[in-house]
Amino acid sequence: MSLKDRLIQEIKASGPIPVAAYMQTCLHDPAEGYYATRPGLGRDFATAPEISQVFGELVGLWAAHEWRAMGSPDPLHLVELGPGRGTLMADALRATRGVAGFHDAINLTLVEASPTLRRTQAQSLAAYAPTFAAGIETAPAGPAIIIANEFLDCLPVRQYVRAGGTWSEKAVGIGEDGALAFGLSPAGPAEAGASTQDALEVQPGLDGLVAALAARAEGGAPFRALFIDYGPADARPEDTLRAYRDGRQVDPLAHPGETDLTVDVDFGRLARLARTASLSASAPVPQGRWLMALGAQERLNALLLSNPGSAKEIHQALARLIDPADMGERFKAICLSSPDLPAPAAFGDPT
Ligand code: SAH
Repeated sequence: MSLKDRLIQEIKASGPIPVAAYMQTCLHDPAEGYYATRPGLGRDFATAPEISQVFGELVGLWAAHEWRAMGSPDPLHLVELGPGRGTLMADALRATRGVAGFHDAINLTLVEASPTLRRTQAQSLAAYAPTFAAGIETAPAGPAIIIANEFLDCLPVRQYVRAGGTWSEKAVGIGEDGALAFGLSPAGPAEAGASTQDALEVQPGLDGLVAALAARAEGGAPFRALFIDYGPADARPEDTLRAYRDGRQVDPLAHPGETDLTVDVDFGRLARLARTASLSASAPVPQGRWLMALGAQERLNALLLSNPGSAKEIHQALARLIDPADMGERFKAICLSSPDLPAPAAFGDPT
């Protein structure tokens, strides 16, 4: 039975399911989930490390710099959340080979839900003997640099709307035509009272993530956690659930398990949660500016010198990541840190 038919049966038997439960099943169902069984990186959607090697290289150099700023702890747990094909980490580690002591100190942990992608990562990063963890909560304790690109956007979202002064939660049910359809069930978000918006999205996974980081900080070991994803810097996402297939946006209810599902990340909420948990949070910085601050231009020049034959492609790929009209502005980088560390490189002052 297809995932769609199974969902229809389950909803008929037990009633509509919250959007977050729908998203979780579509992405991670062991038999039919998108990431679990047919992750389409490079086919359904393209990520920065898959577009240009400079992305992972600069993230790697940033990580090595921050390791030094922490006093070069050994061991250092280098943790990646949702590593995809392992491309970012492979580029990051290749670029940092020359950083004295860094590779010797690194203990690589990959947090990956998909068995299919775990196999890919085990191969692409075999030289660094990675270990796998089910979640950030179970990653080894101790000084850490945590990296996550396009990970937060696939954490399931709860969606709320207000009509006539009353909040409801969006749910997936069955429409009159028998197909999956969005509907409403009476329940407002805990934070509704403070909001003047008539629609709100909340990713409960952000709360769990920050709680896990706060637990690390309480253990006394320093950490930096770098998240790069798309979303507004200073507005709350309202209704951003999207599905992608073959590079095109499609109806999120039409092909459960066969498309990537994604939402905008609420960076403001992530930073507030972190500060409430006594962590420091940088302001979210547009990806283009962040990459330029890390020396994207110099990295590009070096790459062009050694690959003159592919100059145009190399240049165009990096330009996609930096151009504000492309990914440069819509994507943001944010750094959460344990208290008492100096400001991270390429971000403004911590608050
Ligand atoms: N960082 C990669 C891949 C991004 S796609 C890149 O930039 O190319 C999202 C990744 O997160 C995939 O590897 C997916 O399997 C993983 N993922 C999604 N939800 C997850 C979860 N709850 N726990 C662990 N990994 C998850």
